[in-house]
Amino acid sequence: MAEDEPGADLTLAGLTKKYGDFAAVDALDLTVPAGSFFALLGPSGCGKTTTLRMVAGLEVPTAGTVTLAGEDITRLKPYRRPVNTVFQSYALFPHLSIRDNVAFGPRRKGISKQEAAAEVGRMLDLVELSEYGARRPAQLSGGQQQRVALARALINSPRVLLLDEPLGALDLKLRRQMQLELKRIQTDVGLTFIHVTHDQEEAMTMADTVAVMNQGRIEQLGAPEELYDLPRTTFVANFLGRSNLVAGSVAAKNAKTVSVQVENGLVIAPTARAVASEGKVWVGVRPEKVHLREPNEDGPAGNVLHGGVVSDVSFVGVSTEYLVRMPWGQELTVFEQNHTSSRRFRPGDPVDLTWADEHTFLLDAAQDAT
Ligand code: ATP
Repeated sequence: MAEDEPGADLTLAGLTKKYGDFAAVDALDLTVPAGSFFALLGPSGCGKTTTLRMVAGLEVPTAGTVTLAGEDITRLKPYRRPVNTVFQSYALFPHLSIRDNVAFGPRRKGISKQEAAAEVGRMLDLVELSEYGARRPAQLSGGQQQRVALARALINSPRVLLLDEPLGALDLKLRRQMQLELKRIQTDVGLTFIHVTHDQEEAMTMADTVAVMNQGRIEQLGAPEELYDLPRTTFVANFLGRSNLVAGSVAAKNAKTVSVQVENGLVIAPTARAVASEGKVWVGVRPEKVHLREPNEDGPAGNVLHGGVVSDVSFVGVSTEYLVRMPWGQELTVFEQNHTSSRRFRPGDPVDLTWADEHTFLLDAAQDAT
């Protein structure tokens, strides 16, 4: 293994875990580049933790391999892997001081307290807890305890750090703060971090790359903006934020655009944003890309869906969220930014929905929309 950089590439190939006939993780293929902050994101039960446990060596794969910096570690015992895990439950030793908790790994390797002291000090500096070394875990807040757990893992110099819902026990404000903190620490130490979460906002805030998992498989992998802007499946479109998906069928296409007939109009999408460009499709658009206007009012060129009626209005501070019932019974969602849109619509108002062609994406209609 190359020792010149702290992080290491991790590759999973055909990684599978079956319980009886049920595949909790189903032939996963992915590479996590050295030094990246990688998030495995998905709903409860999709196989995130099982994947992490196979990387840590806590679970034996049914098939496939785990390769770290070019070395096959699939059969290596957990303690022989240069991998550490931080769990949601911090699992700190309550009777030991913070300093001794952090020194636990080196002590187990036979390093004396005195020898470990400098490294413990460096780790406590890194997680900004230098002044708390003498305290016991119970004398720290949840966020501080989580940082101790992080320092305790990092002192072992792993090449890859696994984080299994590490912020799950924290309240929302602390969670947001710790997300930025974790990101800072990862950038400072340059390790490969693999972070498991079901919170899409958390994954998008922290990670360079996000793999969206569903039923043991990866649905889509990419940078957060990429996944959000151009989901390739209905699952991703709905799991990462909100989407409007309207049924349609392709009427015409050329190298640049695809025209889709929907219930009461024609919608245009760039060909480059179309996963499907034949037959039945889902026309997708994010709620914040859509604008409301009065029926048949003039406006910028683009897609227009006529005949909506506002069914619900929620003021959410920076934006207003509208639900609009369309003539075919479907409810679509529109987010208007309050600082750019001075007009307010009320329930019962007739409206048209408009958006620029470039924001449309098209998905295969063979997939379920929910
Ligand atoms: P969560 O976010 O709820 O922790 P997860 O995505 O981490 O979910 P896993 O814990 O990896 O999901 O579980 C994946 C699937 O495998 C689940 O359906 C779970 O019930 C099943 N599973 C996990 N461990 C076992 C086991 N030991 N025996 C049988 N089924 C299991």
